[in-house]
Amino acid sequence: MNKLDMVFKKINANRENMISLQKDLTSIPAIAPQSKGTGEWEKAQLLIDRLNTLGITNINIINALDKRVPDGKRPNVIATIPGEDENKSFWIMTHIDVVPPGEISLWDTDPFIMAVKDDRLIGRGVEDNQQNIVSSIFAVKSILESGFKPAYTVKLLFVADEETGSDFGIKFLLENYNLFKKDDLILVPDGGRADGTLIEIAEKSILWLKFTTKGKQCHASMPNLGINAFVAGSELVLALNALNDEFNRQDPLFDPPVSTFCPTKKEANVPNINSIPGEDVFYLDCRILPQYNLDDVLERIRKIIKLIEKKYGVTVLYEIIQRESSPPTPENSHLVQALKRAINRVYNVDAVPRGIGGGTVGAHLRAKGFDTVVWSKIDETAHMPNEYCLIDNMIGDCKVMAEIMIEG
Ligand SMILES: [Zn+2]
Repeated sequence: MNKLDMVFKKINANRENMISLQKDLTSIPAIAPQSKGTGEWEKAQLLIDRLNTLGITNINIINALDKRVPDGKRPNVIATIPGEDENKSFWIMTHIDVVPPGEISLWDTDPFIMAVKDDRLIGRGVEDNQQNIVSSIFAVKSILESGFKPAYTVKLLFVADEETGSDFGIKFLLENYNLFKKDDLILVPDGGRADGTLIEIAEKSILWLKFTTKGKQCHASMPNLGINAFVAGSELVLALNALNDEFNRQDPLFDPPVSTFCPTKKEANVPNINSIPGEDVFYLDCRILPQYNLDDVLERIRKIIKLIEKKYGVTVLYEIIQRESSPPTPENSHLVQALKRAINRVYNVDAVPRGIGGGTVGAHLRAKGFDTVVWSKIDETAHMPNEYCLIDNMIGDCKVMAEIMIEG
């Protein structure tokens, strides 16, 4: 039997242990303080305890201080397993926190008491992100049990605060510590498709803008005495919506293959019908292909604003709520190639590198120049009631990770 077959056999034999770890992790809700939770502390202690029991004992904890949680700390946990080549690391980054269950009546079972139904595990967090917390741990465990060493040093990174912005998680780590090296392989198994073929290697740039149009409020029976900010703002909405036609380059790496400019949130103006609104506020969500420079987009937006100001006699202020861009991870990078090989071997499908609309933690790493790949095989039930994980996906993803650990 070759090395890999031996490891896969161990993984199959660990099926019940994996389900049992899922159950334990589900029983401790790690919800962010913004969502009225107590954070990740207690769940992280259980995780560290289980890692030790499984023989994964080289563990570092990096706490980000946060007064809003009872223990005052948001824990980030790193388990290190030395490889044949210790100059390069294969990172698997998963997150400890979960989102709240939402409307409880929509759940068929208690979200924090994991249920097993046929081929599924059901509970809050079982897919997002415990499926791959458990996969990554048992990939390592099965390799160690078989008496092997991974090709490169393996680093299992379990971060806090993924669901509410990562300020106490990966952003905190990137700003304060030099954990990663340029050559490292970084896998974030927290996104993907039901058939396992989506390897996410790029994100569109994100630009979120707030527009405040200032006119002059007056009685609606005498509109000539005021300036209707709502009307001017509405023309601005349509002019910005037309950016979809203007910045129309296509890139088949992405789905959809174009940049998108969407007017979204609208704040209320006057509460009564008989006043001309003196102020109007709305927001624009832009997802822009990396081919475009965000400064060029902003320059164009400023020109549009000038036209509206001139036409209506209003003043328009814009504010950048979020601006994020990151370079794509090359399709021919080591991890993308290794992952394609491993996915094919385990799931017998050809995975395809793609770009997405933006908003995963992969972007924080790419923005700092680290090649990062987001992949897992999931039914995408994250954040939903009756969130589930297919046991076969948990086992399969574990084998994909183990394949890369063994083969490099
Ligand atoms: Zn997640």
